[in-house]
Amino acid sequence: MKKILPVLNLLVPALILAAAARAQNAAHPARPPMPKPDATDQWTPVPPVVNVPAATGIPSDAIVLFDGKNLNAWESTDRANPAPRWTLEPASRAVVVAPNTGDLRTKQSFGDVQLHIEWRSPAEVKKSGQGRGNSGVFLMGLYELQVLDSWKNDTYVNGQAGAIYKQFPPLVNASRPPGEWQAYDIVFIAPRFNADGTLATPARMTVFHNGVLVQHDMVLRGPTENRGLPVYKPHADKLPLSLQNHGGDAVAYRNIWVRELSFPPAPPVPNIPPPPYAPDPRPAGKKKK
Ligand code: MG
Repeated sequence: MKKILPVLNLLVPALILAAAARAQNAAHPARPPMPKPDATDQWTPVPPVVNVPAATGIPSDAIVLFDGKNLNAWESTDRANPAPRWTLEPASRAVVVAPNTGDLRTKQSFGDVQLHIEWRSPAEVKKSGQGRGNSGVFLMGLYELQVLDSWKNDTYVNGQAGAIYKQFPPLVNASRPPGEWQAYDIVFIAPRFNADGTLATPARMTVFHNGVLVQHDMVLRGPTENRGLPVYKPHADKLPLSLQNHGGDAVAYRNIWVRELSFPPAPPVPNIPPPPYAPDPRPAGKKKK
């Protein structure tokens, strides 16, 4: 017996350890080998190089639509007088809306774009609400990003600066005071239409106002309408971009450039819920447009 005890002292713990190891292996079977890191590398296509000189901030693949020198890239929507007649303001490399001269639209047509545009409301505030520095950037001449002096200016929220007009208010009001230059940086995805004219995918818009995100990949309900709900109608893949002449409000523009983009058609999106339209809740005496 004395000879067996030392053997048992060794054997029993060994058996216990082996049983524990078997139990652990059963609970955690050996992992398959990990894939190599380069199994998920992508090498092509190589993104094109775009240079952005610090002096101008304009990407090398951008089309400059206005640099303050002339309006060669533009025409008037006034058919009787197609030459652009807005006023050049050389000191600030700007162009200013002039009364009774129509909208300006680009000679070139665009579809999907990244657009940079700077604008300035008149320094002197004369009217209120929608009458205060009203203009607009119309992507494809149809889809308006509102331009308005929205510095302490009461109006309907889907009509203030940064709104996709009558469709989506901006996330925040990033407006600067009247007379100061402001910037919009816009990503616009054009709508796609099927061969039979039905809508394949709606337009989408993302907007930064003075560098602040105000619209994030919004799905547009249709072209801008001042009255009634928007309804998509088939149109060309590319159309001119236009700037609104709203009653001659002396809004100025400068430093306008565009990069043409080309995205594959986006997947169809579900129906968009109706917006919370509501009448002006303010007392009758305080109502303004
Ligand atoms: Mg407008």
